[in-house]
Amino acid sequence: MKKWAAVLLSALLLLALGGCGEAKSYTKDLFSMDTVMSLTVYGSDARDAAEAAATRITALEAELSVTKEDSEIARLNRDGRCALSDDAETLLTRSLALEEETGGAFSPALYSLVSLWGFTTGSYRVPADAEIQTVLAQIRAGSLTVADGTAIADGVQVDLGAVAKGYAAAEAAAVLKEQGVTSAVLSLGGNVQTVGLKPDGSLWHIGIRDPQNESENLGVLEVGETAVVTSGGYQRYFEEDGVRYIHIMDPATGYPADSGLSSVTIVTTDGFLADGLSTALYVMGLDRASEFWRGRDDFEAVLVTDGGEIYVTEGLQGSFSGGEFTVIAR
Ligand code: AMP
Ligand code: MG
Repeated sequence: MKKWAAVLLSALLLLALGGCGEAKSYTKDLFSMDTVMSLTVYGSDARDAAEAAATRITALEAELSVTKEDSEIARLNRDGRCALSDDAETLLTRSLALEEETGGAFSPALYSLVSLWGFTTGSYRVPADAEIQTVLAQIRAGSLTVADGTAIADGVQVDLGAVAKGYAAAEAAAVLKEQGVTSAVLSLGGNVQTVGLKPDGSLWHIGIRDPQNESENLGVLEVGETAVVTSGGYQRYFEEDGVRYIHIMDPATGYPADSGLSSVTIVTTDGFLADGLSTALYVMGLDRASEFWRGRDDFEAVLVTDGGEIYVTEGLQGSFSGGEFTVIAR
């Protein structure tokens, strides 16, 4: 009897050790919102939870994607009005607020401009300046309003491409938590969202791409449960006559943002905000972005200039490692 008890005990110990050394995990890869996504979930029910999170992302794409013919946003752009699901209403309402807060650096109503340059559709071209000015004038004269669960777009077209992935990542994380998941890392293109801590209880290490050399990281952030979202010109662009035209538009000029920054990474627990601000601060450039950060207390950032200099806001100075960097102080 004793011998059996000893065998049983060592078998249990081995199991326990196995459990600690290599946590069970499941990775769900999917292509949604024009992006390769990878959801890595730890724990015994990882597979079902990851599948549920992926289903939520795909459903959001169907509601929100400007290129899905029957999405609410596509119908809004076609008909000028659309009754909204809770998700679309939340996103549009928050987007309009963020447009105000960022002084228009971020705007959800730029689709006519974005598509004039061929982004989203893929038919890239450099428009004549007169075309750009005409579209800008239309956008400025137009309006986007949301009231009583209905959106009305008058003279403007909507594109939630700058916030949809951040919102989707946050929603996917919420689904995982509902399913009892305590550890996961979701990568939706430049959007990373973590749930809890690593299975061994340590912080996550999230790499920040080198905008000059995409196969390299220029630094690593050590974080807990949060969103880490990067916007970069390198993520989507086309070239004509040796000039690079990136997918982030400066609403003030109608041309691709040329603010002296080559990437902006935002860290905050709010996935929508992280995504929206990564786009907005890219448009603002270093000085305006630093001032904007000083006026708020709900996010931190890593800014990389065209020259490769790294600027890190005060709250991240202990979490960032990599090359030399300058601290942006309050
Ligand atoms: P992101 O990759 O999150 O920075 O989002 C960029 C995408 O948002 C672009 O591909 C456009 O679809 C759209 N976009 C471009 N410029 C802006 C802007 N200034 N404000 C809001 N959305 C934008
Ligand atoms: Mg964004």
